[in-house]
Amino acid sequence: MSENIKKGGISVDAEHLFPIIKKWLYSDKDIFLREIVSNASDAITKLKRLDSLGEISLPEQDYRIDVVIDKTAGTLTVTDNGIGMTEEELEKYICSIALSGAVEFIQKYEKDESGKPQEGIIGHFGLGFYSSFMVSDTVTVETKSYTGAPAVKWVCDSEGEYETFPSEREERGTSVIMKISEDESELLSEYKIKEILEKYCSFMPVPVFFSNAEDIEKEGEDKKEPEQINDTTPLWMKSPSECTDDDYKAFYKKVFHDYKDPLFWVHINAEYPLNFKGIIYFPKLNSDFDPIEGQVKLYYNQVFVADNIKEVIPDFLLMLRGVLDCPELPLNVSRSYLQNNGYVTKIAAHIVKKVADKLNGMMNTERENYEKIYDDIKVFVEYGCMRDKKFYDKVKGSIIFPSAISGKMLTVDEYLETAKEKHENKIFYATDKKVQAQYIGMFEAEGAEVLLLDRTLDTQFIQTVEMDREGVKFMRVDSGVDDVLKNGDAENNEDMTALFKEVSGNGELEVSYTALKDEKTPAVMNEDEQDRRFADLMKLYRMDGNDVPGKAKLVVNTSSALYKKAEELICADKKDDAKQLLKHIYSLATLAHRQLTADEMKNFLGDAYELLLKL
Ligand code: ADP
Repeated sequence: MSENIKKGGISVDAEHLFPIIKKWLYSDKDIFLREIVSNASDAITKLKRLDSLGEISLPEQDYRIDVVIDKTAGTLTVTDNGIGMTEEELEKYICSIALSGAVEFIQKYEKDESGKPQEGIIGHFGLGFYSSFMVSDTVTVETKSYTGAPAVKWVCDSEGEYETFPSEREERGTSVIMKISEDESELLSEYKIKEILEKYCSFMPVPVFFSNAEDIEKEGEDKKEPEQINDTTPLWMKSPSECTDDDYKAFYKKVFHDYKDPLFWVHINAEYPLNFKGIIYFPKLNSDFDPIEGQVKLYYNQVFVADNIKEVIPDFLLMLRGVLDCPELPLNVSRSYLQNNGYVTKIAAHIVKKVADKLNGMMNTERENYEKIYDDIKVFVEYGCMRDKKFYDKVKGSIIFPSAISGKMLTVDEYLETAKEKHENKIFYATDKKVQAQYIGMFEAEGAEVLLLDRTLDTQFIQTVEMDREGVKFMRVDSGVDDVLKNGDAENNEDMTALFKEVSGNGELEVSYTALKDEKTPAVMNEDEQDRRFADLMKLYRMDGNDVPGKAKLVVNTSSALYKKAEELICADKKDDAKQLLKHIYSLATLAHRQLTADEMKNFLGDAYELLLKL
């Protein structure tokens, strides 16, 4: 017997390698199970391929992977009925080859000056098997090759010292038996193992069963059958024509634990040379205040790799939810490599194109429905356009804004078409329907449309449109008195200006005079569009929360009856009455422009009561 036992030490870098493996993946050591189960799945895939190539002929059978915890023995075992290994293969693949990739990795790792494990190394490292040592005192491999070669057993301790024995194993395939180290005893709990399996293996192509050794050994009613934890044909692997709306919704709810239906989805089935599949979902948001928590899960041949890999998926798509399976991705390399990878850029561009096609398709063929959900996807569309000019170019015809007057949804072109005769190339908008109600009313009276841009991103987004459409200018309703509202110009009234400065308590107040078509409103406050945008931006970036005061100007309407009355009072030298009236006109204009401060409100009410006494 003794001459059949081989002893060895995992070559060159064993003592170098093992401590580093333990440290290296420490923050995400659960990955070991993904690696071992993936190897088992690969072993089955290889065997199936040999079968389909006609190289071997196997009786019809159920391929499966079993993950079993044995609390008494303190082991976690992964068994497959795949291709198995001969003794030579075991020597070649497990004892040496796998390490060559590792050595290269370690050399790189050691150059990292921060001393921390390099984060973001994802996927298959070519030393996946060795990750089992992160959590085990010893790892035993028992394997029998499909070729019928004698079965072998290999036992390796955490220092990398191993022994090889002949094995009694009769079934084809491989078992990896991990004697879990004391520090990792959590890995002997059903809950923990199921959690890891569900995270990484939910969609593996081979059935994965989980059980507790005690439960399967029990007799009678107490005996529990192993539980299958995966769905071997996830929806993204199917052709879109095979999937119903209900399938997409159910899959979404299951994968993203959302109780709400998604708004819509894009199923991507990119063929050669891109060769990737995926489903991107647009989730329904609760409100503007909901944090937008997207989640795009990346898979490698149905094995979960990671969430939200921003090097692969454009960041604005990370606001969405979805699954992407990219078997071509070189996942054994670092993120910095992915960043400059041509293939990755093409995948991202393809996804962006598909999403844009979907939006355009809905806009063109089911506009009513599109308008209904637009509010929910608006943030995404606008942010996407601001981040990616190509996306903007593709979807610009499908960007719509609600009218603050009719509630209709209009594209920029549709708006400009309605405005053609009245105010060419100017787009009037309001950011607050209530506060700016008076201004909106003036436009409405002239039959002009006003768009409602009341979402956080809207006012930044319009700059993207302005940059693209030369000559087109967005103007907030209170940014100036446009010709569309005017009857004509008017002369300055120096006396009145002096009084306005006095009653407003603002010697710097800018006052101008114009004749509006609206004959009721005595005055409005205007704030220059560019100045206001700048002030808004400052507000957004200032951390102290203090408002940067805007510079509002008073525009007095010489067609209004109250203007005429004020003028009469001034002419009749009734200064006090004139001042009382002008102060009130000033307050009302301010009130129609913005919220009053507490003091302003108090004074305004006091003045109003006094005025009422004069009736
Ligand atoms: P990788 O899977 O990236 O090649 P690993 O270190 O995980 O690297 O595995 C090294 C090799 O060992 C595999 O390529 C495979 O040939 C062999 N191997 C590992 N596990 C199994 C298994 N369960 N059945 C058959 N061969 C296996």
